[in-house]
Amino acid sequence: MTISKNPVTGNYQLILIPKSVENFLGKIMYPVLCNSHGGTVSKTDRVFGHYVAMVEKVGSILTEHSPRKKVPFEFKVVDSKDHNAWCLPGGKIAISLGLILAMDREGATYGLNRHFTLEEKIASVLSHEMTHATAYHAVRNAQFSLLLILIIKVMESVLQFFLGFVAGESLRVLSDRLIAIIAQGAISHRGRSYEFEADKYGMHLVYEAGKAKHCPQDAALAHVWLQKFCVDHHNSRTGVWIVDRWRELWASHPTPQERCTANIHTWHALTLPARKAAQGG
Ligand SMILES: [Zn+2]
Repeated sequence: MTISKNPVTGNYQLILIPKSVENFLGKIMYPVLCNSHGGTVSKTDRVFGHYVAMVEKVGSILTEHSPRKKVPFEFKVVDSKDHNAWCLPGGKIAISLGLILAMDREGATYGLNRHFTLEEKIASVLSHEMTHATAYHAVRNAQFSLLLILIIKVMESVLQFFLGFVAGESLRVLSDRLIAIIAQGAISHRGRSYEFEADKYGMHLVYEAGKAKHCPQDAALAHVWLQKFCVDHHNSRTGVWIVDRWRELWASHPTPQERCTANIHTWHALTLPARKAAQGG
């Protein structure tokens, strides 16, 4: 058990799960999850092998600038048509071939006045996933769930003790359901906040790589492009206000529209010092 500064957010955090356990879990789950997503694409594949090489190259550049050192990052392309990417504890990351091909095909600039290369688009995906590992999201999520279970059990015991005197079985069932709904809402809210955090600090990571001339600094703006791409390809909003707000309340991920707005805000915050210096000069 350690109390340490989160290398990404700078906030102090309690870590109950040792780094060795985190890395071990990622290592044993990685091949299983890759296989369940269609298996990995080989770098020697004649048609798609160059995408694997590109993912590894972008991943290794970003790893150099990672704020959390000694994460054993690995980057694989999985042979799935879905548009998907994920990160396991210990920085075991996969991106689907379907997402790479769709991003490669998509020539729209979505009003950003900038054509992003495939490397930059891949960097926006990988830097987001890397931040899940560097900011201890899996560890913090597991600890939060354990704490929530503990609180639920205490609340259930207290309610059952008092309701036992004044109410019947039906009210006890109702109280259990209510607790489960509150817990689900808390977990979903937590998941969405991690997604925003991974976007924000993923942009910081690409911006740092840009400062070191490993890529153009405005490559971080590809995070905005990616969310506009998701709005274009995966918009799940119905347009009915009450339906959309209700769904978003329980969703594990924010909508691409919300992420797009947050990423534009991050971009302005990132570039503010440079803009101020330019005005001063
Ligand atoms: Zn994510």
